[in-house]
Amino acid sequence: MTPISTTTDTLVIGGGIAGLMTAWYLARDGVEVTLVEAGDDIGTQASGANAGSLHLQIQYPEFAAYGEDWARAYAPTLRFISASIDMWQGLPGELGEDLDVQLGGGLVVAMTDDQMRRIEAKAKIEASVGVQTDILDAAEVRSIAPYLTEAVIGAGFCAREGKANPLRVTPALTSAALLAGVVIERQARVTAIERRDGGFDVTTSRGRIRAGRVVNCAGAAAAEVAAMVGVDVELGGFPLQVTVTEPVAPTIPHLVYSAAGKLTLKQVANGGCVIGGGWAATVRGDGSLATDPVNFARNMAIAADVAPVLAAARPVRSWTAWVNGTKDWRPIIGEAPDVPGFFLALFPWVGFSAGPMTARVTADLVQGRAPSVPLGGISVLAD
Ligand SMILES: Cc1cc2nc3c(=O)[nH]c(=O)nc-3n(C[C@H](O)[C@H](O)[C@H](O)COP(=O)(O)OP(=O)(O)OC[C@H]3O[C@@H](n4cnc5c(N)ncnc54)[C@H](O)[C@@H]3O)c2cc1C
Repeated sequence: MTPISTTTDTLVIGGGIAGLMTAWYLARDGVEVTLVEAGDDIGTQASGANAGSLHLQIQYPEFAAYGEDWARAYAPTLRFISASIDMWQGLPGELGEDLDVQLGGGLVVAMTDDQMRRIEAKAKIEASVGVQTDILDAAEVRSIAPYLTEAVIGAGFCAREGKANPLRVTPALTSAALLAGVVIERQARVTAIERRDGGFDVTTSRGRIRAGRVVNCAGAAAAEVAAMVGVDVELGGFPLQVTVTEPVAPTIPHLVYSAAGKLTLKQVANGGCVIGGGWAATVRGDGSLATDPVNFARNMAIAADVAPVLAAARPVRSWTAWVNGTKDWRPIIGEAPDVPGFFLALFPWVGFSAGPMTARVTADLVQGRAPSVPLGGISVLAD
C-alpha cells in the first residue's frame, strides 16, 4: 500500500453503510470526499455481517425490559427509520443492483396473554408516531403464517418490515461511491485528529490527510474516534452472533420475532434461514470474537419452538461482529456542538435499517442544509 499524503474537502471515517452512503451522497452533490477504512476491505464489520433485517417497530425485548416511558422517548426515532425504509425500497433501482430487498412484514409472536398485552401497549406507542402495527389473534396469525407453532396466541404485525442482503449491499455501495468520485483508502486506520486553522490534520496508519470537515462513521469504534477531538460519545461495541441454516423449502415470508425470547428469523433468497436476535458472542483474550456455543444452542431452540420446521434444518454457518450500541437506543447524528466541522453519523443497534437516512441526513448537514428528516426528539445532538 502506498503512503497517503493528501488534502480533501470532507474526510469520512469508516467504510460501513453509514460511511459509504454518506460519502456517496456527498460526492453526488459535488463535494470532494475521501473515505478511510481501517480494515483490509470495505463493509466487513457490522454493515456486512449483520442479519439483514429491516426493522421498524420498537424491539420487543427492550420494550419489556425498559418499559413504556423509554418507548415513548424513543418512539420519534421510528419516523426516521420509517423514512429510511422508504429509501431502501428505492435503493436497488438507484444502484442498479438486486439487493434482495423485500418487505414481507414483521411479526412479533406471543405465547401468553401477558406478552400479548405488551405487544398491544407497544403498538399504541408506535401508532402515536404514525407506525401501524396490526394486532392479530391466533386464527389471523395462522392464516398468514401457517409455519408458526400452534402455541402462538396472537401477534403484532408491522407490514413495513422485511429484509435486505448485507453481502450485496456494501459491495454495491462501494462501486457507487467510487463511480461518484469518492477516493477510498483501505488499511488506513485513523489514529489521531488535530484541529488546525479551521480544519483537521488527520493521522492514519498509512499517512496524513488534511480535511476541511470530518465525518465520524466508525460504527462500534466511534467513541474512540470522537475522543480524538475531545468529543465524548456514549456509544460502545457489543459482540453479537448470527447463524444461517441450510436451505429449506420456501416457507417463511416474514421477519419473525418472539415475545418469549430473543429471536429474529427470516428466510433468505437461497432458502436458508438467518437466525439471530441479539445473542452475545464470546470475546477471546486477544479481542477477537467467536461464536458462543451456549447462546447458539439457545437461539436455535427458540427458533425451532417458534417455527417447528427449523428443528430439522441444519445450521451451516455462524458468524460474529461488533454492533454499535447506546443505552437509550437513540442515534447520535449531527455536528459536534464544540467542534465545528466534525460530524457524527451513528445509528445504534439497527443501523443497517436506518443506514440510508442516517447518510442522507448527514450529507445534508455537512453541506449546511436542513436535514431531510428533522432531528428534534431523535438525535441526541439535536436536543
Ligand atoms: C451480528 C449483527 C447483526 C445485526 N443485525 C442487524 C439487522 O438485522 N438489522 C439492522 O438494522 N441492524 C443490524 N445490526 C446493526 C447494524 O449492522 C449496524 O448498526 C450498522 O451496520 C452500523 O453501520 P456503521 O456504518 O455505522 O458501522 P460499521 O459497519 O461497523 O462500519 C464502521 C467502519 O469503521 C471502521 N473503523 C473503525 N474505526 C476506524 C478508524 N479509527 N479508522 C478508520 N476506520 C475505522 C471499521 O473498520 C468499520 O468498517 C447488526 C449488527 C451485528 C453486529
